[in-house]
Amino acid sequence: MSDNSFATLKLPQAQLDNLDSLGYVGMTPVQAASLPQILDEKDLIVQAKTGSGKTAAFGLGLLDKINPRFFGVQSMVLCPTRELADQVAKELRSLARCIPNIKIVTLCGGTKLRPQADSLEHGAHIVVGTPGRIQDHLSRQTLDISQLETLVLDEADRMLDMGFQDEINHIVRETPESRQTLLFSATFPDSIKKMCRSIQKDSITVKVDAEH
Ligand code: ADP
Ligand code: MG
Repeated sequence: MSDNSFATLKLPQAQLDNLDSLGYVGMTPVQAASLPQILDEKDLIVQAKTGSGKTAAFGLGLLDKINPRFFGVQSMVLCPTRELADQVAKELRSLARCIPNIKIVTLCGGTKLRPQADSLEHGAHIVVGTPGRIQDHLSRQTLDISQLETLVLDEADRMLDMGFQDEINHIVRETPESRQTLLFSATFPDSIKKMCRSIQKDSITVKVDAEH
């Protein structure tokens, strides 16, 4: 077994078979550097370039903790834009093919609130969306994240550049302290460092320069 084989991880056989069927032959460098700790439920800061496979790094981590029998929001991924949220949801759906009855809901602006609220009411395991729309649902009490286990901030530097700091703070306050918090960013300015200190516990920093 090569060092970058997904089989070196503590993943269910069904997921290893699924990764095989997706043509994911081995882990990318960022996946190899972060997945063992992510699966160990540690808080991580991951700095790596676009296209390095960060979605599967957090996706495999959060899916591993999902209880499909509990219809409450257990994982949430915050993204800067609707396009990115759609891409993340698509990748998560591929990775979740081996877990029956997983419901993933995207919550972004530019779409009516009501259908999103109805969808949430029928039970969702994973929410992917933009901070503004997620905050809207929280203030209308159409979204409950009090049982959240995994919070992911994807492209965190872009979210801060777009002025989402207040929304992020508001969202984090509605999640349990016991959550796992994973933060992904292409750059690591002081504003990101400051936010990490306030929302993560004993986080591990993983920096990967190489492209895969
Ligand atoms: P990032 O978020 O780092 O920009 P993505 O997570 O969007 O990158 O991944 C980029 C592309 O690589 C996607 O099309 C994804 O399906 C693919 N990919 C991710 N992990 C692997 C892997 N281990 N093997 C092959 N392709 C992969
Ligand atoms: Mg990405």
